[in-house]
Amino acid sequence: MRTREQYLEGLRKMRRNLYLNGEKIARDDEIQMPAIETMSVTFDYAADPKYEALCTATSHLTGEKINRFCHVHQSREDLHKKQDMTRLLCQVVGGCIQRCMGVDATNALYNVTYEADRENHGATEYHKNFKKWLERFQREDLVGCCAQTDVKGDRMKRPSQQKDPDLYVRVIEKKSDGIVVRGSKVHISEASIADEILVVPTRALLPEEKDWAVAFAVPGDWEGVKQVVTVHNLRSRKYFKRGFTPGYTDSYVIFDDCFVPWERVFLCGETVQGGICALLFALFHRHSYSGCKPAMGDLMIGAVALAAEYNGIARAPHVRDKLAEIILVTELGYAAGFTASELGKPELYIPGVGSIPYGPGTYIPHSIYANVGRCLTGEAVYREAEILCDIAGGIPATFPYEGDFVNPETKDLLYKYITRNPEVHPEDAAQLWRYIGDILCSSSGGIHLMGSYHGGGSPVMEAIAITTQYDIESRKKMVKRLAGIKG
Ligand SMILES: Cc1cc2nc3c(=O)[nH]c(=O)nc-3n(C[C@H](O)[C@H](O)[C@H](O)COP(=O)(O)OP(=O)(O)OC[C@H]3O[C@@H](n4cnc5c(N)ncnc54)[C@H](O)[C@@H]3O)c2cc1C
Repeated sequence: MRTREQYLEGLRKMRRNLYLNGEKIARDDEIQMPAIETMSVTFDYAADPKYEALCTATSHLTGEKINRFCHVHQSREDLHKKQDMTRLLCQVVGGCIQRCMGVDATNALYNVTYEADRENHGATEYHKNFKKWLERFQREDLVGCCAQTDVKGDRMKRPSQQKDPDLYVRVIEKKSDGIVVRGSKVHISEASIADEILVVPTRALLPEEKDWAVAFAVPGDWEGVKQVVTVHNLRSRKYFKRGFTPGYTDSYVIFDDCFVPWERVFLCGETVQGGICALLFALFHRHSYSGCKPAMGDLMIGAVALAAEYNGIARAPHVRDKLAEIILVTELGYAAGFTASELGKPELYIPGVGSIPYGPGTYIPHSIYANVGRCLTGEAVYREAEILCDIAGGIPATFPYEGDFVNPETKDLLYKYITRNPEVHPEDAAQLWRYIGDILCSSSGGIHLMGSYHGGGSPVMEAIAITTQYDIESRKKMVKRLAGIKG
């Protein structure tokens, strides 16, 4: 396994293909460092003996100890541990731990490549190639991101109906040694600090949409790949440092007639498996949300409780009710993820077909529970922000700048006038209002909310997954029997 220093060293060796605000930047540009610091926590915790059992796993390919973010789930216990590791590390960094997209895409492709080869009766070697890729990914402890979301153009049209066929990533040429792909995947979190980009289809595909049924992996700096990056950093602090300063990046990943050798191609033309791949990545990713969203809930509960205490309103009935509301969503979201792990099987639910054995025997979380958990917690993020806004009052929004708290002309006056609960030291209170300002009033906080809401698919996608997979017919029969309906 790598250390954080080795991870950074790897990024430093990469070709410059990151574009930010009109300039090309290096991977270790100062602006990317908070995101790199956040990702580095995944290396620190895997190396810490206290967290070894949670944050490392044994590779089923080599028998070696690997970072759990590179692991393919071999058991229900692995699913539980991924959920718990995600919750823990998101608590530590105070937000997204960033590495789950890679593990979720890896697990999806491990299964899909196996099934695609089976469907092709041995004419393809996707699974063998993917295993080779995975072995290196695990051995070198690489960071993966997942590029699923296509730009999609006209939302009401399918890939093949778009005026511009490049609005979904597609194969434009097949060669003896590989394929050439064109298109762009957008909002790709941490692609600018990832070693590998895993590319999977966005949606179900029709038989005539073979060109769009493509999955592959390329290094983040691969020839033909351009990344246009946005960085979400918090305002830097000079005097009153945070306990941890997280950072995030997202990229428009553009495949500008990019050549991908066959050994890195994991689907090419298999429309059925392409659609399943889209579904399966989303499923694994929604299961990851049952770790990260409860962590966001933990942080909201802490922030609301402290805001109430520092405002001197901790015993007010509406505070208790609102804390209960967040706890309820947080722990139900966790419970749904726990159940999805506990009922995990090497099986996949296909709408209209039912549960079928799928893949080479690795564990897939239960779809209904992964989806309801993600739906419940993902849609609650704006409500939770509203609760924090209510209990904090307006103070985080207009809180004076740090410098005014060290300027002798204003310092004492400011501490006097921000004092509310006399039991709380005003310097502690100031740090809390700054922290809540980061969550509620910063551009980074706003982006985090949108990511929590839309990441893994906008809410309607979960509603579709839940309703198409749920056995509603059996519930209708129950009611018909009770009501005495004969028809
Ligand atoms: C901060 C952030 C980080 C992200 N990270 C990643 C990442 O790492 N990797 C990745 O692949 N993706 C990532 N995403 C993308 C995320 O998965 C998408 O935002 C999500 O799937 C919604 O897609 P969209 O943004 O294109 O919105 P749209 O699909 O355009 O949705 C907008 C609205 O249109 C509706 N709509 C769309 N199509 C139809 C239709 N045919 N009929 C009726 N209504 C429709 C939707 O339901 C929604 O209400 C990230 C997004 C954000 C905001």
